[in-house]
Amino acid sequence: MVVAYDRDNIFAKILRGDLPCTKRHETEWAMAFDDIAPKTPVHVLVVPKGEYVDFNDFTARATAEEQAGFWRAVKETAEICGVGEEGFRLTTNNGEVAGQIVFHFHVHIFGGRPLGRMVR
Ligand code: C5P
Repeated sequence: MVVAYDRDNIFAKILRGDLPCTKRHETEWAMAFDDIAPKTPVHVLVVPKGEYVDFNDFTARATAEEQAGFWRAVKETAEICGVGEEGFRLTTNNGEVAGQIVFHFHVHIFGGRPLGRMVR
């Protein structure tokens, strides 16, 4: 892990209710809300409730129960947002080199239009 977890990061504040969001889903393990700058018609962020900086940190330290609960919430969010059947893209930026700007682990769900091929 390169960056230490900061309890005042934006998603921590959203999880605490200190900042507003357009919530799409919430479980014991995760919360999902619209990205503030959507790149696609459906652009939702799913964040675990635990304090993890990035994917590497989450997969290293979260319990199997937390991890299963998180990924279940991702699947449920895609369904709730109406893209579960037709298809969607999951993205996580792991670290500054990948362009991560909020250091609370999160997964983007993109969908609602044809997305094209990412890697050719
Ligand atoms: O690269 P990374 O996945 O860390 O990008 C963070 C995402 O969080 C961006 O897509 C940005 O639009 C989103 N964001 C948000 N609400 C904020 C701040 C950032 O949805 N208040």
